[in-house]
Amino acid sequence: MSFMKRQIVCRQSNAAFGVGIRKLALSAADLTSDSEGQDWIIQDKDLLRKSLTESGTGLHVLDLVNRASLEADRTLYSKLLNKCSQTGQLKQATIVHAHMLTSQFNNDLPILNTLLNTYVKCGSLDHAHHLFDEMPHRDLVTWTSLISGYSQLDRPRESLVLFPHMLRHGLVPNQFTLSSLLKAAGAGPDPDDRHGRQLHAYCFKCGFDSNVYVGTSLVDMYARCGLMDDSQIIFDALRTKNEVSWNALIAGHARKGQGEHALRLFWNMLRGGFKPTHFTYSSVFTVCASAGSMEQGKWVHSHMIKSGVNLVAFVGNTLLDMYAKSGSIEDARKVFDRLVKRDVVSWNSMLTGYAQHGLGTETVQLFEEMLRIGVQPNDISFLCVLTACSHSHLLDEGQYYFHLMRKKFKIEPQVFHYVTMVDLLGRAGLLDRADKFIREMPTEPTAAVWGALLGACRMHNNIDLGAYAAKWAFELDPSDSGPYIILANMYASAGRLNDAAKVRKMMKEGGVKKEPACSWVEIENAVHMFVANDDAHPQRAEIYRRWEMISKKIKEIGYVPDTSHVLFFVDQQEREFKLQFHSEKIALAFALLNTPPGSTIRIKKNIRVCGDCHSAIKYVSKVERREIIVRDTNRFHHFRDGSCSCGDYW
Ligand code: ZN
Ligand code: ZN
Repeated sequence: MSFMKRQIVCRQSNAAFGVGIRKLALSAADLTSDSEGQDWIIQDKDLLRKSLTESGTGLHVLDLVNRASLEADRTLYSKLLNKCSQTGQLKQATIVHAHMLTSQFNNDLPILNTLLNTYVKCGSLDHAHHLFDEMPHRDLVTWTSLISGYSQLDRPRESLVLFPHMLRHGLVPNQFTLSSLLKAAGAGPDPDDRHGRQLHAYCFKCGFDSNVYVGTSLVDMYARCGLMDDSQIIFDALRTKNEVSWNALIAGHARKGQGEHALRLFWNMLRGGFKPTHFTYSSVFTVCASAGSMEQGKWVHSHMIKSGVNLVAFVGNTLLDMYAKSGSIEDARKVFDRLVKRDVVSWNSMLTGYAQHGLGTETVQLFEEMLRIGVQPNDISFLCVLTACSHSHLLDEGQYYFHLMRKKFKIEPQVFHYVTMVDLLGRAGLLDRADKFIREMPTEPTAAVWGALLGACRMHNNIDLGAYAAKWAFELDPSDSGPYIILANMYASAGRLNDAAKVRKMMKEGGVKKEPACSWVEIENAVHMFVANDDAHPQRAEIYRRWEMISKKIKEIGYVPDTSHVLFFVDQQEREFKLQFHSEKIALAFALLNTPPGSTIRIKKNIRVCGDCHSAIKYVSKVERREIIVRDTNRFHHFRDGSCSCGDYW
């Protein structure tokens, strides 16, 4: 015990105590911050003990013990320690610990277990482990506390290492030990299932796998390892399920991007009479956000309101993100305004939403508000504000914030900040400065940095610098088709067909494949996906007829099909040359057929929208009097009355 004794000095009295226990008048304000400050008189030792341990840190009571006016017992220590656990006050816990060492409870197992648990709850595994090592006896509770402590505090390896030691001591784990171990086995960014499977075998042998608590942990462990089939098998075999079991399975599918599956499970959960929790809603909003399916997300949102689940920050953040990603920035803002407590993630989600919608001024204003009220921005907040500046041509502001990030907030720029700065300078036409900026970067530029310069060169028709940037991009990420296509199209547009052919050959020889382009549109709770020249859709004939009709109408008011964007990669890209049917046009025609006149149309695309589709959609928004929102990989385009929010600059 010497370690603790050396480190801890008992706190001395600082209040006017010891005036005699029976007639002790205490100023409540000295002891508690939540009382109303009136004086009160303690007539009874038990009441005194109770009042003291319940008020403030309660440590004053130890002074009374020191003066022998009060006798310490197990309840007193455990009350004080519980208070430390609740408030996470490590220092106070060490004071109680020091006091215990001088008392008759220095070897008392239940109290030492509580103390170990307190150290874990206060986040100090070092203190917990020291105590563990010095404890004369341990029982199961001690081991479980330490195992769960490591597991909770993101040190899963240590947790798992303890298990065989525990078995060697002849102890049999209970459901809490096993759940903590399974949590540890599924922890980390990319867990493998080796430990998990061993634990599963152990649970099976001892009959724990049908226990709802352990079984749910197994469902979660497999889900975190990405093994959804195994997870489902355990889930199905559970005789009793609870909300947590459902949440583990839903979250697993959400993490794997299997949105439809996650949503189906959500409906089944409701049908089964289970009550969704914050975690359920958060997973479901996440999948609706990535699928861009606002109708389903809205339905789930109203379900949440009706069931009386309040809007805590981490659910609010996913809800906000869902609205922003499915195109309704206004609804996202409403959620943001309604959040009672906002964390930095809430601010970042709102900033990201504004930035992706190309609302530069709003992003900058919100960022300034964040600084004004004293919320500490992080690297993501700066990324948002820089992106917004870049997309909205706020050159000076962008440079100012880049400077501010390093100087005032001491945040070292990451590669993505450099990419955005190159983009900012490049979009503003300052190609040489962007090039110089890259050369002066303190770290090696990545393919993405060169890609940003290449994109700017395409925008400003600088073929030589573009070719140079592309060369670097090819070298650093040979598998990315993007730079090849951009460079080949730049050559083709300039009539340098031989050069374009060379790039195409390089691409072919390197086995570089282009991601097939597709678009999604959500109509009445169903998400429809289209690829270019889609001929598998049941409404195919109607869709094409509708497009022909529209095409005629928009040509009358000035639309000229622009084939320069597809000059070269016609066959690979989307064979538009043949049919003029990019997937977003098909999605648009389909939406026009299947939605009421005047309603907003939301389309999502997995690559950048091409110039021709962009121009066509502008005209369609005018003749059809519709707001059309397209989310591509770069940003959101809000088409209204013949123009787009991006100002044709994306
Ligand atoms: Zn297109
Ligand atoms: Zn646009």
